[in-house]
Amino acid sequence: MHQQPVSDDLIRSFLQGRHVHCPVCHYEVRDLQDRRCPECGKELTLHLSPVERHLRLLITACTGLAMGFGFFAFVLLITIVQTIDKGQWPGPGYTFWVILIPSTLILGAALAVMCLRSSMFARAARRRQIAITIASWILSLILVTTLTVVIIRIT
Ligand SMILES: [Zn+2]
Repeated sequence: MHQQPVSDDLIRSFLQGRHVHCPVCHYEVRDLQDRRCPECGKELTLHLSPVERHLRLLITACTGLAMGFGFFAFVLLITIVQTIDKGQWPGPGYTFWVILIPSTLILGAALAVMCLRSSMFARAARRRQIAITIASWILSLILVTTLTVVIIRIT
């Protein structure tokens, strides 16, 4: 994608009389006549950004799912290695596998959807984004708690 550079005039008129700080060194660049910060020497430009920030909620939702998925993937790997090592199928028992495998798949799929469809999340209404974020954490915590209870009971 071809990007047209922002003109020096546009940068100058933006900085005229405005209390703006250099994003690198925080030096005040008000009334700057050049596109370089006089303090750190970095070249500056202007860009648009959305007023409403959606990234914080997206990251919070993904963290909830990644936490759960990471826990399940770790337990799954350890269990598979131990079961093969001891040669005692089904290892910790069928209840354990019935919770472990579907939960790992559900959390992995949810995490993949969140990563691949992040633009849909960004376009969704704020209330819907909050609902998805809370649902991600609740799903993760319920599944992790359930497996933890099962592990405590069989050990
Ligand atoms: Zn600077």
